[in-house]
Amino acid sequence: MKKRPLGQNFLIDREAAREIVLQADINPEDPVLEIGPGKGILTEFLLEKTGALIALEVDSKLCTALDARFGSNPGFKLLEADALKFDFGRIGPRFKVVANLPYYAATHILKRLIYFQSHVIDMTVMLQKEVVDRLVAEPGQKEYGSLSVFVQYHNEVRRVLEVGREAFSPPPKIDSSVVKLIPLQIPKVDVKNETIFFKIVHAAFLHKRKMLKNNLKGWENQFLKENGKIHMAGIDLSQRGETLSLEDFATLSNFVHPHHE
Ligand code: SAM
Repeated sequence: MKKRPLGQNFLIDREAAREIVLQADINPEDPVLEIGPGKGILTEFLLEKTGALIALEVDSKLCTALDARFGSNPGFKLLEADALKFDFGRIGPRFKVVANLPYYAATHILKRLIYFQSHVIDMTVMLQKEVVDRLVAEPGQKEYGSLSVFVQYHNEVRRVLEVGREAFSPPPKIDSSVVKLIPLQIPKVDVKNETIFFKIVHAAFLHKRKMLKNNLKGWENQFLKENGKIHMAGIDLSQRGETLSLEDFATLSNFVHPHHE
């Protein structure tokens, strides 16, 4: 099959497109950013809802076609740009995001949007199902990892729709899911130092099958040994990282924080 470096699997199921736009819950005055409009299946439904749509597409051929189709609509603005490098602050002070993201860059683009989250009202995005499984995963589930913690620390996350591969042309090898992310004004848990928090989270999941006492060796001088068990901040380190909640990670990082100053 022809290689598609830009992740160009276009949605052809109009009912799925309509449902994605419905899930975005757009008011007429909401500014909306669409990333990767492609041939415009979501764009068409989005323009029925908002008078202020900015579409950001990297492929110049697609941009020419999009401009021909929607360019006369005063509510439509097209930017030919790369979402992996784009300064989303330029879009405006507050906007919604709706996108069927290209697989190859989906998590990267999502992380960039979270970086700009003070501008984001909410995001309704389609991604590969396997990534959405990680975004919504809870402690104890095998998909739970540092991406789950990072995204859930900053957002309320909800899966809103499953979309099978047959809804696309050409059909990809995997299924997709739509997820809704609502940025939190205050992070989910109270963390004194985010750098240390995420260092601990990354270390805890580095070797997923290892116990925390092995993955967190960098903080070994703060371990407490008691009755043959190893603890830190009251958390048993003979478990794996995947069992810890966001609160547990906050407890660990808030405990080690003062020792690093
Ligand atoms: N929204 C359309 C749909 O649902 O049919 C297209 C979705 S397709 C999965 C991904 C789209 O993102 C393509 O149009 C592709 O050209 C575009 N794209 C890929 N990489 C991009 C990037 N780095 N920045 C902006 N758009 C990109």
